[in-house]
Amino acid sequence: MPDPRREIPRTDQVLADPRLREAVERIGPRLVKQAVVAAQQQCRDGGIEPAAVADIAVASLPVGATTLRRVINATGVVVHTNLGRAPLSRAAVDAVSTAAGATDVELDLATGRRGRRGRGALEALAAQVPDAGAVHVVNNGAAALALVTRVLARGGRSIVIARGELVEIGDGFRIPELLESVGARLREVGTTNRVRLSDYAGALDSDTAFVLKVHPSNFTVSGFTSSVSVGELTGLGVPVVVDIGSGLLAPHPRLPNEPDATTVLRAGADLVTASGDKLLGGPQAGLVLGEAGLVERLRRDPFARALRVDKLTLAALEATLTGPTPPVPAALDRRPDELRRRARMICAALPPGLEPEVVDSEGVVGGGGAPDVVLPSVAVALPERLAGPLRLGEHPVVGRVERGRLLLDLLAVAPGEDDGLIDAVKRVACREER
Ligand SMILES: *Cc1c(COP(=O)(O)O)cnc(C)c1O
Repeated sequence: MPDPRREIPRTDQVLADPRLREAVERIGPRLVKQAVVAAQQQCRDGGIEPAAVADIAVASLPVGATTLRRVINATGVVVHTNLGRAPLSRAAVDAVSTAAGATDVELDLATGRRGRRGRGALEALAAQVPDAGAVHVVNNGAAALALVTRVLARGGRSIVIARGELVEIGDGFRIPELLESVGARLREVGTTNRVRLSDYAGALDSDTAFVLKVHPSNFTVSGFTSSVSVGELTGLGVPVVVDIGSGLLAPHPRLPNEPDATTVLRAGADLVTASGDKLLGGPQAGLVLGEAGLVERLRRDPFARALRVDKLTLAALEATLTGPTPPVPAALDRRPDELRRRARMICAALPPGLEPEVVDSEGVVGGGGAPDVVLPSVAVALPERLAGPLRLGEHPVVGRVERGRLLLDLLAVAPGEDDGLIDAVKRVACREER
């Protein structure tokens, strides 16, 4: 009996297939070779015929040279931290693609000399918040806070902060520890639930660098509570820094308790810090807005260089600010009747055997803030057993399991993704039948 292993086509023979040669150009030799080796192994195990090795290798090629997969967010959580927070707008994706090559990020094409890095993004941000004397952009919200602290409070100067605002952001990272890690000392005032202006005033001394107000963006305290407004804090005679977290630049009608940069600056804050990839709907970035002299000090500090954003971020941020409404703010504006219409259309397109049903649902902002806000939404309910297969499908869909059913909540699903969602469910149903 001939050794079946002899019949397995050699790697170089398989790689000569024009489809695989093209794939080497597109995603590189390593991933293509991996797909070939896996197909050869299937053949060795007797799962496929030798003649099918190239076809199977082609079919199993990754779409691109990243292990990251594109996911449909049907969780009902608009800013989902584990799904990469804000999805970028089409305009921002195009901008990233443009900036990916050689680009004039730091060159003035008119004079041929060095230009201000990321001018377009900075001007776009400044234009949306005219109350800011100047703006600066760093890697993320935590970096913005670290830079402010490092420049204003290094060497053990103190930051006065309310006990109720000592926030753990996520993944075990805590704002107070972040502040101490760059050399500040914390002076905590008030209690978990209450703080008064006199608490702040009593904590000030010649070593005070600034008063920090942190928005509790991922929890609420209710009941017997009190806090001090930004406006009141500005009378204390030391700089007031406000970490608003979510990146709203102006008030949002559906999120009345979420602070925004414009309102906080008008109330007299000297500096505001925020994230770019929460409610602003842009790339991961940290925004600093405020008094021009302070912003300039931050920009010129040696530490600023360690937090510098790359050209891709600058491009995406500019397009987020100047382009069409990005997916996150679009999701916040979605109305239940529109979602119900889409859910009905999706249900009608799915195999009746799955007994898909349109149900009312409640979405949330999620990692972006507004922990107290419920966003009325609509979902397609399916059998719970589909949750795993849908996550693992060719086009992964992540839903939410509730009371024994899988809910595909449409709040954070862009209308353009409906067909992909239908297709993904159909494939899973088809595989179940086999
Ligand atoms: C999210 C958040 C941060 C951290 O911002 P990153 O962009 O995740 O670094 C800091 N402060 C507040 C209040 C936040 O909500």
